[in-house]
Parts: sequence; C-alpha cells; structure tokens
Amino acid sequence: MISETVRGLARKHLQLFREWISLKKEGAPPPTANPWVFGAIISMKTMEKLIITAALVGAEVTREDTPHLPVTPEEIGEAAAQAWEAGAAIAHIHVRDETGKPSQSRDLYEAAIREIRKRCPIIVQVSTGGAVGMSPEERLQPVSLGPEMATLTTGTVNFGSEVFMNPLAEIQFFAEEMMRYGVRPEFEIFDTGMIGTALGLVRDGWVTGHLHFDFVMGVPGGMPATARHLLLLIDQLPKGATWTVAGIGRHQLPMAALGITLGGHVRVGLEDNIYYRKGELATNAQLVARVKRIAGELERDVATPEEARQLLGLGEK
Ligand SMILES: [Zn+2]
Repeated sequence: MISETVRGLARKHLQLFREWISLKKEGAPPPTANPWVFGAIISMKTMEKLIITAALVGAEVTREDTPHLPVTPEEIGEAAAQAWEAGAAIAHIHVRDETGKPSQSRDLYEAAIREIRKRCPIIVQVSTGGAVGMSPEERLQPVSLGPEMATLTTGTVNFGSEVFMNPLAEIQFFAEEMMRYGVRPEFEIFDTGMIGTALGLVRDGWVTGHLHFDFVMGVPGGMPATARHLLLLIDQLPKGATWTVAGIGRHQLPMAALGITLGGHVRVGLEDNIYYRKGELATNAQLVARVKRIAGELERDVATPEEARQLLGLGEK
C-alpha cells in the first residue's frame, strides 16, 4: 500500500516537473538530479543531452591486457579523436611513461593534451587519482596546465588489496588548486559517504560553481554496481547537479543503460572495462559508439563537446 505521504510527494514532484518542462526553453535546471523520482514519467527527448565520457587509458590496464590501450601521447590523441567521432564529449585521461607505467608527469600530460587538441574539440579531463601510492603533489601536476576538468576523489577507498588514500586535508588542497587554475572538478564517488564530503567542500567554500559527480561502481572494495545503489546516490544530489555513472568490468554496459534512462550521463572506456562482450576485446571508440547507439534507440540525444560545456558550466567561475 502506498501511503498518503508518498502520494503527496509524488504529486509535488510531478508538479515540479510540469513547471520545469514549461521553463526548459529558458534553460532552467531540472528540479532534481533524478527525473524519474516517484514516476514523473517524461520522454527522454525532454532530458538534457547525454554526455559520454571516454576513459581512454587508466592506470592499471596494460598493453598485455589489450593491444588497444593507448599509451603514448600520440596514441592518446588518436584514441580521443576516435572516441569523439564515435560520440564522446569528454576524454578522461591518464598518461604513461615510456615503459608503459602510470605517471602523473606534467610534461606527459601537456604532450597528450597537445595531441588531442590537434585532432578534435573534445573536453579534456585529467586524472588527479593517478595510481595508488602516488603523493598528492605528484597527483596534482596536470592541474597546473589548466585543463577544462579534473577528477577529485572525495574519500579513501580500498582498491582490492590496495588503499586509495584521500584524507580530508588533501581533498581540500586538491579543490583549492583546481579553483586556482579554473579547473572544473568532477567528484569521483567510489562509496556513498563521499557525496557528503563533496557537499561539505561546497558548503565550506572550497568548491564553487556547477556540481558534477561521477559514480564509479563495482570497484572491489567500493560500492557495488546495482540499480538500487545508483538510485540511492542520485537521490542525495542537490538540485541542478549533474552525474555520470561508470561501471567497472562487466558492469559497464548495464550501468551505462541505467545512466541513459535515469537522466544521467555515461562513462565507458578501457580504463574501466576492456571487453566489448565476453572474450572479445574492445576499442575505446567501439564502447562509445555502442552507448550512442543505445541512447539513439531510447530517443536520448547525445551532447557535442560544446553542448557538454554548457551543461557542465565550463568556463564559469
Ligand atoms: Zn581515471
């Protein structure tokens, strides 16, 4: 039995949505980060355009795992261009040294970004996660290049047998540096408590401007990739925030489908998953193209980099 309180809430949400749809042509943000709460059913055509992020490299996958992994700055530039042609608006990048090991070298990031810029207008988002065990100063290097976006992980989490350390003082330092260089953070959420820490940064003035979250689901040690967990996360976001979902390994495709239908955005790519289907290796572009195709069938339009810049408030202070 549905209670009167729930009925009241459902009516309120439906009313908010009716108002929003009438305001939408003026560019009003949605009244909640989850357009489907309490069954406020609208066509996916009315949702904001889908931003596809291609996580091209990562820190853990190796050339031995897949020959499709881009490693050199030129290869990263080429992979970004192919992902952009396939429908990606954001390239989330890490870099590797000449031996293929993960690096946070400013020079290598500069070279990779130059190779991307030569080829396409995709938004570049650098990693500040780096690889487990790197120092905060080492991880922060690419931020001083002033890229449009950078990741900001707002908590410590187990990565299998390793620990990805992010004490609060370091998170605040990362946020401060991003604001200083005009870099839009993407909050990397590996577990539910990290949303509260991210919102604390906003409350205490460490981060200003548009809020964008990435839910990374299915890391061993982090939160599981389930629809139930995703809904719990979305419902904690403040009005006007945007979110992306990244499922790890075999969770990538189902979480992408949920991201499209729930009004969020989607991250795919070899950092999170190297397979197109069981036993068949993928390229970054193939993974992006599949998300674009599914979105098309569901009547959700895909954002260009320029449209994604608008949606994410890039360039705003
Ligand atoms: Zn990454």
